[in-house]
Amino acid sequence: MNSQQKISNLDNLVFDNCFIRELPADTETINNRRQVIGACYSRVLPTPVANPQRVAYSREAAELLDLTTDACESDDFIQVFAGNRLAAGMEPYATCYGGHQFGNWAGQLGDGRAINLGEAVNRKGERWALQLKGAGPTPYSRTADGLAVLRSSVREFLCSEAMYHLGVPTTRALSLMLTGEPVIRDMFYNGNPKAEPGAIVCRVAPSFTRFGNFQILTARRDIVLLKKLADYTIRTDFPHLGEPSPATYVTWFTEVCRRTAEMIVHWQRVGFVHGVMNTDNMSILGLTIDYGPYGWLENYDPNWTPNTTDAEERRYRFGNQPQIAFWNLGQLANAIYPLIEQVEPLQQALAIYTETFEQGWQAMMAGKLGLNAFDPATDGELCTGLLALLQLVETDMTIFYRQLAMLNTNMETPLFVSNHEDAINHFSMAYYVPKQVTPDYKERLGLWLNRYFNRIKNDGAPDDIRRRRMNSVNPKYVLRNYMTQLAIDKAEQGDFSMVNELLELLRRPYDEQPGKEEFAAKRPDWARQRAGCSMLSCSS
Ligand code: AMP
Ligand code: MG
Repeated sequence: MNSQQKISNLDNLVFDNCFIRELPADTETINNRRQVIGACYSRVLPTPVANPQRVAYSREAAELLDLTTDACESDDFIQVFAGNRLAAGMEPYATCYGGHQFGNWAGQLGDGRAINLGEAVNRKGERWALQLKGAGPTPYSRTADGLAVLRSSVREFLCSEAMYHLGVPTTRALSLMLTGEPVIRDMFYNGNPKAEPGAIVCRVAPSFTRFGNFQILTARRDIVLLKKLADYTIRTDFPHLGEPSPATYVTWFTEVCRRTAEMIVHWQRVGFVHGVMNTDNMSILGLTIDYGPYGWLENYDPNWTPNTTDAEERRYRFGNQPQIAFWNLGQLANAIYPLIEQVEPLQQALAIYTETFEQGWQAMMAGKLGLNAFDPATDGELCTGLLALLQLVETDMTIFYRQLAMLNTNMETPLFVSNHEDAINHFSMAYYVPKQVTPDYKERLGLWLNRYFNRIKNDGAPDDIRRRRMNSVNPKYVLRNYMTQLAIDKAEQGDFSMVNELLELLRRPYDEQPGKEEFAAKRPDWARQRAGCSMLSCSS
């Protein structure tokens, strides 16, 4: 595409606002908090802000909308994506959804701090919904203010784009603006409220529809509207499935199961912990959505969750994500049951989730180990052995796999079997607590490596091919929790350079990036217990 075809004036974006055209609106137009019955959305305007300022924007997300660099760097871009001006064709609204929060039905939730601007259709004919997060209250804001703070907005902005570049299905982030207005937050809900800078992220996705958009309608026994929303979703977001019918609802649900399984396999591959997998935070498109108290696994620990709100039960811990996604899909199945009225096909679809996840997980682990394919005869044990080893000593998962790829299997095999110290030295940069490296651990690492090398020999791929395979699925750079916090600390002082540096770094997470090695190193000790680095809450 040449630059003439690109959009430099935001009023030239082409909007086709299907969602509000085809689905029923809330008839009440006053923006007060309420239960919204018999409607999928409420029209609501973003609240203007005093002094908006651009912190960052994603050029790849801008490309989805055909926007030029000039458009993104214009003052108008700031005004529009801070919610101060509607570009031509924008028709803002907030959607109604419900959800299960931490396993309990919570009733109506809805876009409490998200306002959709409309659906832009790009030159390729792709539909991209634009949504401001933190642009003021909506009928769904319940007791909260509809605002977002810089800290959580930096986290959402950077992680959305990092996940995209890692190849993980995700909603995207176009822009990050400061509002110039303070927002009061009690970060750990412990009676210490303070003023923080307000911010707004513009998110981009084909659709922001969640499991909870369907659930709320069934909970209210509004099956006519449930059918309307399902039909709309199938026609708009799953057009390849054909015209809606009971059979189509089943194939649709099956596809949601499959996509969700694929997304979770990716999370487990890169060490992403969502932190709040409530059903209102599950996208019908199988996209990672709602970046709140998420975290990146540093030392491999399946029991870890970054979310202090979930510290006791650890429902959303890393190792539980596959089961939780299944449970959430079960809730979606209950919600769409009235459209199908048969249990069996829904159960079969749920079984497809399990199958897709298991096969996907095996293929993913084979990739992480550089194998051509997963051989159940040997590789189940190979993986279990490795994952146990990674937990014996606090081991940085990301670094470990990159170091594993570096091994020269021809030369180092005999060495490592006889000399464990060399193996330990090779992985030392991944260990958080060196004194945990006991003689017993060394022995077990040596045995595992021996088994791995034998497996590699049988696999037959030479080291350079194995290494390339591994380095294309094992990232060198991930959005380590402490790095984001450092970027936030600076941004809160008015210095946006690190937000932009991390955005740039994470555009190529699998590449060696000379000069950037500090970002591939393990988490520094000071970050182990610091708020924001390992502990987060739902407050944002
Ligand atoms: P979350 O846990 O962030 O997914 O949010 C759960 C629900 O609370 C959603 O309905 C959000 O829209 C709503 N919510 C969270 N934070 C705020 C806020 N600051 N203002 C209004 N609604 C909020
Ligand atoms: Mg949410």
